[in-house]
Amino acid sequence: MPSPRRGRHFLQIPGPTNVPDRVLRAMDRPTIDHRGPDFARMMGEIAEGLRPVFGTAGPVIIYPSSGTGAWEAAIVNTLAPRDRVLMFETGQFATLWRKVAERLGLVVDFVPGDWRRGVDPAVVEQKLREDRAGAVRAVMVVHNETSTGAASRIPLIRQAIDRAGHGALFMVDTISSLASIDYRHDAWGVDVTVGCSQKGLMLPPGLGLNALGPKAIAAAKAGGMARSYWDWDEMLKNNAKGFFPYTPATNLLYGLREALAMLHEEGLPAVFARHARHAEATRRAVRAWGLEILCAEPEEYSNVLTAVVMPGEKGADAFRQVVLERFDMSLGTGLGKVADKIFRIGHLGDFNDLMLVGTLGGVEMGLAAAGVPHKPGGTLEAMRFLAAAR
Ligand SMILES: *Cc1c(COP(=O)(O)O)cnc(C)c1O
Repeated sequence: MPSPRRGRHFLQIPGPTNVPDRVLRAMDRPTIDHRGPDFARMMGEIAEGLRPVFGTAGPVIIYPSSGTGAWEAAIVNTLAPRDRVLMFETGQFATLWRKVAERLGLVVDFVPGDWRRGVDPAVVEQKLREDRAGAVRAVMVVHNETSTGAASRIPLIRQAIDRAGHGALFMVDTISSLASIDYRHDAWGVDVTVGCSQKGLMLPPGLGLNALGPKAIAAAKAGGMARSYWDWDEMLKNNAKGFFPYTPATNLLYGLREALAMLHEEGLPAVFARHARHAEATRRAVRAWGLEILCAEPEEYSNVLTAVVMPGEKGADAFRQVVLERFDMSLGTGLGKVADKIFRIGHLGDFNDLMLVGTLGGVEMGLAAAGVPHKPGGTLEAMRFLAAAR
């Protein structure tokens, strides 16, 4: 018989993340008429709060969907079957977005990668310079590759596209970086930004997001694929009045309004600094344990999660199992090519210094309990860093 659980479960996977009590309470209310004035007022507040999170003055569309739906929406509104697109194998999520693109009939030039770094801007420039005919219709990048803990440098990729003088659309998946790592849709010249609810936005799963730039809206007017549920045009027309073309996820929207209020109370720069501090503390712990961080490029270390290479004979999933059973903490599993070879520590969303110390303490006790070769003291290193950081 497993012993009954007491206290809070530690949900330290890089999404879904811990949902704050304030957000849970905000959702625990009767569902209202989504064609009435109270709903339209709420949508006005949400639109106003959401734009700065994406760093845009333009529209942000909200689907009742997971992030995968928002990936599909970005494609079907702007691109046509047999269009060529440039994508990069940064890890499992880039691989999955590629699969969506290919199923929808796009021809993907998928630049291979070793799952230890982000997108190389020099390769973007070279690929686009080689495309003299301008056949590549879109460059599609995952900002924070959640399967590896490497974050691509979006402004440098934008500059590479500009240096090549190429007119391709620039689409970015910010699903696990939004509201955790600095991101600027307008200033960085992104045409479509894809997001969703269950990572930095601190909500349960169920909302998919598309932020749209003018060039993407023009591409959608001129073409795209056959579409209905994902059609931006219908959404934009209805959203302009505070409504949706179909029933929205009303209670998740209550939660979104509350989460946005929380983010703006803290201030986005402080939110980003908090994530940076927790990421640095985590890396110090990992190094002190004598373990290896999967991301091989320090400039691309993710501030939302750290993937750790599993040493020794036992697989990473056996270790995660020990941590779950002994300490009631969920760590992220290795996905795709790195399955059972790494574990991932999520340090994003509604998270503070003591939660991180608890998380790292659980990892360190788990390493000892599972007999994983390591040096003790990583948690102490992180505590020293957190105590000194301001
Ligand atoms: C979580 C995640 C997704 C997938 O979103 P779902 O909600 O599971 O469909 C896509 N991209 C990235 C980078 C993610 O972290």
